[in-house]
Amino acid sequence: MVQDNNCIFCRIVSGDSPCHKVFESPGALAFMDIYPAADGHVLVLPRQHFEHIFEITDEDMRAVAAAARRIACAQQRLLHPDGLSVVQANGAAAGQTIMHYHVHLLPRVSGQKLRLHGPRPGDPERLAALAEQLADQLRAIP
Ligand code: AMP
Ligand code: ZN
Repeated sequence: MVQDNNCIFCRIVSGDSPCHKVFESPGALAFMDIYPAADGHVLVLPRQHFEHIFEITDEDMRAVAAAARRIACAQQRLLHPDGLSVVQANGAAAGQTIMHYHVHLLPRVSGQKLRLHGPRPGDPERLAALAEQLADQLRAIP
């Protein structure tokens, strides 16, 4: 398994750093973004370390896409957003700040601009509650 000890997302995957976990599968992990750009902002990533779309394997991409589809359905059922954006940045010029491939799942409010990064850390209690409620919803989503 490809891992980078200097990577915060690899440390979360290995359990060395905490997260508000929403979902896990053999190939993917999902947790709440700690600087949410929207209420219910979730990140989905492969367990293995790939920096960009240019390196990730088909198999890992499938694991991330399958997780993202189910989590988006859970967000829809729990939060009833006006819309939901799936965004993934490759390279600093595209807005990527953590160099471990990941997908943003962003519940949207009509009329509000899309952004990937929130201005401040999320309330830990809210993040924990959302993670638990999304995980509950996921149990009912095939
Ligand atoms: P990007 O700009 O696409 O690389 O997004 C990286 C995202 O990771 C940002 O939205 C950060 O808020 C988020 N982030 C950074 N560190 C953590 C962490 N330890 N736990 C959860 N989310 C994080
Ligand atoms: Zn990594």
